[in-house]
Amino acid sequence: MKMKFYLFTILSLMIITSAFAQGNLGMIALKGATIYDGNGKSIENGIIIIENERIVSLGDEELEIPENAQIIDVAGKYIMPGLIDAHIHFFQTAFFDSRPDAADLRDSIPLAEVVKYQKEHPERYYQAYLRSGITGVYDVGDYMWTLKFQKENDENPLAPHTASAGPLITPAPEQMIGIFDVNGESTFVHLGSEEIGRNAVIKNTEAGTTGIKVWGFSPKDADFVKNINAVAEEIINQDNKLIAHSTNLTEAKMAMELGAKLLVHSVEDTLIDDEFISLMKANKTLYNPTLIVKRGYYNTYNALLGNDFELSDPGKIVDAKTRNMLENASDFKKFLPDARIKALKSRLPAMDKSMNTGKEIMLKNLKRVYDEGGTIVVGTDAGNPGTLHGVSFYDEIETMQEAGIPASDLIIMATRNGAMAMERLDDFGTLEKGKYADLIVLENDPSENISNLRTITHVMRNGILRDVQDAEDFRP
Ligand SMILES: [Zn+2]
Repeated sequence: MKMKFYLFTILSLMIITSAFAQGNLGMIALKGATIYDGNGKSIENGIIIIENERIVSLGDEELEIPENAQIIDVAGKYIMPGLIDAHIHFFQTAFFDSRPDAADLRDSIPLAEVVKYQKEHPERYYQAYLRSGITGVYDVGDYMWTLKFQKENDENPLAPHTASAGPLITPAPEQMIGIFDVNGESTFVHLGSEEIGRNAVIKNTEAGTTGIKVWGFSPKDADFVKNINAVAEEIINQDNKLIAHSTNLTEAKMAMELGAKLLVHSVEDTLIDDEFISLMKANKTLYNPTLIVKRGYYNTYNALLGNDFELSDPGKIVDAKTRNMLENASDFKKFLPDARIKALKSRLPAMDKSMNTGKEIMLKNLKRVYDEGGTIVVGTDAGNPGTLHGVSFYDEIETMQEAGIPASDLIIMATRNGAMAMERLDDFGTLEKGKYADLIVLENDPSENISNLRTITHVMRNGILRDVQDAEDFRP
């Protein structure tokens, strides 16, 4: 009899535990935190009521909590929407194995193998994203296979919501981009003619891409101008949007003249001017400064050469494969020809210097866009060497803060604006009734200093609250 009782108790505990893991506990009320809703509003001593995967209501202490709700006391803490990284690439590993154009290690690991692994194991980065508080990512240039994550990840509470722009269109020479053609798929389309451009836009749109990314603009090349005009026109025909990789002022202006809705890099060659600002306003172009990615390359070159290198991952949440690769980067040095190593070594000091100058310009430009009322998003370019999926977000947003943007506004850029870029603001990005219950709980106030994002204790994705310290709880 006693035995049976125990068995019954254990069984019911198991049912409760698994029900909780699936988020079916019914109604939850998070009570007592200061809430930042992502729209610029804050509620002290707030209450958020969540049912299943959605927010039912939120308000101050007066808000009535339904009797059947499970109350979770979060007094003294801070709650804000989950973070959005609006610039990532799933095919990239944060090391040179996915960027042979930067350091060719294909003798060690063929690119086809790397990309195949990335395709089959996107979950490799999900844990680092969620445990960093990132509940949405925008892949702005990748292989077609990333498109399936758009729907798939919505219903997977162990993954960030995902938008993907698919293969990029570029004027870059075929021999340069051909390196990325593997397993019968491409991540670049060479813009060889108007027809190729139009077809790429149609193909991507029909496949369901969120945006069409153009990588590089050549305003002085008459053929390019003709071809890109066709692309821009077709993007409008297809009701898609132009995303631009353009890092200098002339090219960024050209992109906006063509209707670009999202600039995924800063203008870094010179200070932006009035014309840039008016084009940005007329187009409602979103500005993603992407400040730290070059420094990531520099750090990883140093790692490869055996110089000082430190992985920026205080919470120890980077996946073992990535950690292993970066911490043992110098093992790959033997795959580079001596001449290449020599050239790299001699180039690094100049690279360092030009990055410092570039950073100064980028910060000034970011501040100007901010002062002019432009809409800014936060994106890291994660996956590029040294820019780690998930954890690099903190470095990026802290660098944005250095430009002089108040932390309270950085909160909006990191949440609502990112969801706008992903075209998903109706579903997430702010804490509002009816939206996905995607939020983070912080120990310290993010509106005082954006570094306080690092004090994250919990992340909620689709209504399921998890302790970010508990690695096991993020395993599929
Ligand atoms: Zn990128």
